[in-house]
Amino acid sequence: MSFPPTPGIGSRRAFARANRSLVGGVDSPVRSFGGVGGTPVFFRRGRGPYLWDVDGRRYIDLVGSWGALPLGHAPPAVVRAVRSAAGRGLTYGAPSPSEHELAERILRAIPTVDRVRFVNSGTEAVMSAVRVARGFTGRPRVVKFEGGYHGHSDGLLARAGSGLATAALADSAGVPPSVVGDTLVLPYNDREALARLAEARGEEIAAFVVEPVAGNMNVVLPRPGFLRALERTCRSTGALLIADEVITGFRLRYGAVHPDFGVRADLVTLGKIIGGGLPIGAYAGRKDVMEVVAPRGPVYQAGTLSGNPVVMAAGAATLDALTPAVYRELERRSARLEASWTRAARDAGAGPFALTRIGSMLGLFFGASPPRDLEEALRVDRARYARFFHALLARGVYLPPSPLETAFVSAAIGATELGRLERAGRESFTVAGAP
Ligand SMILES: *Cc1c(COP(=O)(O)O)cnc(C)c1O
Repeated sequence: MSFPPTPGIGSRRAFARANRSLVGGVDSPVRSFGGVGGTPVFFRRGRGPYLWDVDGRRYIDLVGSWGALPLGHAPPAVVRAVRSAAGRGLTYGAPSPSEHELAERILRAIPTVDRVRFVNSGTEAVMSAVRVARGFTGRPRVVKFEGGYHGHSDGLLARAGSGLATAALADSAGVPPSVVGDTLVLPYNDREALARLAEARGEEIAAFVVEPVAGNMNVVLPRPGFLRALERTCRSTGALLIADEVITGFRLRYGAVHPDFGVRADLVTLGKIIGGGLPIGAYAGRKDVMEVVAPRGPVYQAGTLSGNPVVMAAGAATLDALTPAVYRELERRSARLEASWTRAARDAGAGPFALTRIGSMLGLFFGASPPRDLEEALRVDRARYARFFHALLARGVYLPPSPLETAFVSAAIGATELGRLERAGRESFTVAGAP
């Protein structure tokens, strides 16, 4: 079997040209195919389960704009809402009912929060939630978990230093040590490290920020009791618990997923899905916590385009389309993909392979057993993932161009696409496993 080289000449030309005006030809590094090699595919159109590249080739999309598109591309109800809102003005720079209309939907869906503030990205949401936690508690430090991604704000671009529970190291050039000096980093899923830190420095900690299901180091599920131990630590130290649900919010269920693990967060951050594909972020919390935010309180946070009416309309239309039936279908179709690819990997002799799935989040791991933390996630066989990725790409399937990211199933992926994914998967696992 032979396939035309991917990407086609159109993407190659576009990338060469983009490199003359954009840094590295992209606006977000993971899009550049650094994780899998080769030239990134440039797209011109998306509809339902499909993306079309500039050469006219069609792909089943398992990236879904990094989780922002549970309904697939250009769902008619969302596009109609966007058109209609755009016709009434693109931004007012003043309040509009569209903001509380989306806020009310979020509050109904997440009963433990009382107030929302909209921002323009998940990065801003978490950065602001941390500021709120510091303002509320009067404490300086924030704790994150290794492999958790909370956007690219300075203080959260931190990785573990040597020795447990010591101050973090900057995870990017341009972030001074003083800025991450108040960030502490613990291994995910490690209750003992958590207990030690709480004992040693509990009183300095404003907040623990956690992805309830980690989706930025492959898919890593919280071990039973881990999130409950984290909440207990927050209660005993007086720190706030920030559930970063930028991926998981409205993805795994309608609303936030952390209550399903028996915990209650003080602040919840959202993004991706709630904007229906347009730029958004939000942080939400209990009334007493959120009332520290300006104009009510002393914690400053603002945004020229925050609560943008077109984005609010896209978000509301998306949430309205996310009915219980959609989540049932997402579960059913994702389970079918999981079963077919797990079988295909085994039958093809693709080598060690483990698939972690929760709802429509799939973690494909070319390694022996599902990772439980970043250290294990980094043991992935990158070469085999890259071969699998390119074999699928040639067969018209677009997977995340990185072995550490999550694949997302959308409700637009139907029986036809599942059949194609099964066939393409079988062939691609054979390619991946070949020496
Ligand atoms: C994507 C993501 C963010 C950052 O959101 P942006 O909109 O890319 O700034 C923050 N937290 C988590 C868990 C994410 O997945």
